[in-house]
Amino acid sequence: MSNTLTGIAASAGIAIAKAFVHEEPDFTVKQKEASNKEKEVERLTEALAQSTKELEEIKQKALKELGEDKAEIFSAHLLVLSDPELIDSVKGKINDDGVTAEYALNEVANMFISMFENMDNAYMQERAADIRDVSRRVLGHLMGIQVVSLAAIAEDTVIIAHDLTPSDTAQLNPAVIKGFATDIGGRTSHSAIMSRSLEIPAVVGTKQATKTIANGDMIIVDGIDGDVLINPSEEELTTYKQKQQQFAEQKAEWAKLVNEQTVTKDGVHVELAANIGTPQDLDGVLANGAEGIGLYRTEFLYMGRTELPSEEEQFEAYKEVVERMEGKPVVIRTLDIGGDKELPYLDLPEEMNPFLGFRAIRLCLEKQDMFRDQLRALLRASAYGNLKIMFPMIATIEELREAKEILADEKEKLKADGVTVSEELEVGIMVEIPSTAVAAPQFAKEVDFFSIGTNDLIQYTMAADRMNERVSYLYQPYHPAVLRLIDMVIKAAHAENKWVGMCGEMAGDEIAIPLLLGLGLDEFSMSATSVLPARSQLSKLSKEELSTFAQNALLESTSEAVETLVKKHYQ
Ligand code: PEP
Ligand code: MG
Repeated sequence: MSNTLTGIAASAGIAIAKAFVHEEPDFTVKQKEASNKEKEVERLTEALAQSTKELEEIKQKALKELGEDKAEIFSAHLLVLSDPELIDSVKGKINDDGVTAEYALNEVANMFISMFENMDNAYMQERAADIRDVSRRVLGHLMGIQVVSLAAIAEDTVIIAHDLTPSDTAQLNPAVIKGFATDIGGRTSHSAIMSRSLEIPAVVGTKQATKTIANGDMIIVDGIDGDVLINPSEEELTTYKQKQQQFAEQKAEWAKLVNEQTVTKDGVHVELAANIGTPQDLDGVLANGAEGIGLYRTEFLYMGRTELPSEEEQFEAYKEVVERMEGKPVVIRTLDIGGDKELPYLDLPEEMNPFLGFRAIRLCLEKQDMFRDQLRALLRASAYGNLKIMFPMIATIEELREAKEILADEKEKLKADGVTVSEELEVGIMVEIPSTAVAAPQFAKEVDFFSIGTNDLIQYTMAADRMNERVSYLYQPYHPAVLRLIDMVIKAAHAENKWVGMCGEMAGDEIAIPLLLGLGLDEFSMSATSVLPARSQLSKLSKEELSTFAQNALLESTSEAVETLVKKHYQ
């Protein structure tokens, strides 16, 4: 038996090849004091210019080999390189403190990195990764460190690294790089996202791959179950080659479904939609044949900048999304800021419990100028496709009524100005607070649809912070209490002939899908890469059969019992 490491399955598939351990160069800055400030600023300027040239070249290569959306990452890096806030802070530090260019850069970059990392939001963590990646490149030039090029690898290889930066990943040639495993990272880390779009099997967050694996070891990366086998036995090799073959066959089957509708074994159509954060995510949505957008998280338009986006800028973004979806439904959620997502420029006071605080719709109803700008942009974009508006974090009927009144008011004003607005515009709410789930029969009378936000609904139902590792054992999607709330919401909506979707992570979960289908969920919205596997799974399930099964699951006492019930049913 080989030594096996367990991590997070980041990109499905099986890779079998020899290891190349990608060592992280030592960027420890040793010299602090500088004697000549002008010279340090000059060295910085020179290193920035060299890095820009290098990044331009990588970007061109990425454009050719990986496509426009991957090349975007390097546009973001080039922006970091020319960001006045960052560069001026580094120069300021050299001049004020009399330190070397590398010392100043390291200090400033680390400050920005920890600021973004602490936001504990996938998008912002990517920004932190961008700054780390760019600052290392510049440091490399300042310190004379040669950064190894992964692009030079010419034979079948599995890359083992502490982490892979976006520039590392963009250099990977999928023809020879069969897979990779990293020490750190989660499913939403940059390297994980890149591995999925390159379709390279990957396991991230193994904690110790670089410590345990040596160059030339034979490696199996199992990106389906999250295992990494080191120097496997003949028997293991045979087993995994079979698993590799089965996966290839399964993928070919999934690919056939890309232009299909999602229909269950007993002929019921359910809608499979995708969640997006920016218009750039649309390529993945279209490539995976999603039938709509079930959640467009608009807060990313507001983040990573220093002032609010204008109505015009928002209008362009929303219009692009509805137009590219060509009449398919696009549910756009109004600003859900607060909690883990901060907007420093709004200058909001710190709170003891941000997840229970002044966030999302609560903030929008108070900062009405900001809210009205967004609603106007949405209303104008509604003329270009099938746009639906969704309000987040609704806890009371009064909030819903007030939000709807403001929307109606802006609609009237636009119409009075002769602006075209869709007359079929549906308005719904996220059901992510238990009070709203319990009072769903009342809410159902006043909305066009519900979308269940399980990411928050679970944390509020179980009183377990979704970010806190120590209470993560309580974060239980299959807990009968959570399932009962979902059941109540679906029944309440259907009693009023309204549709119900789900846009929390649970909607794409293999164990949850049969339960949700059985409970009668109409729309499932998930990350784009989960769409085809979910379509395939749903085509094998009978809604009618699962209806009794799901009602029985509600009677179980524990999350574990529910999970066992589902697994047993499918074995
Ligand atoms: C949710 O809470 O389930 C949800 C989809 O919203 P977010 O993850 O953006 O809070
Ligand atoms: Mg939420």
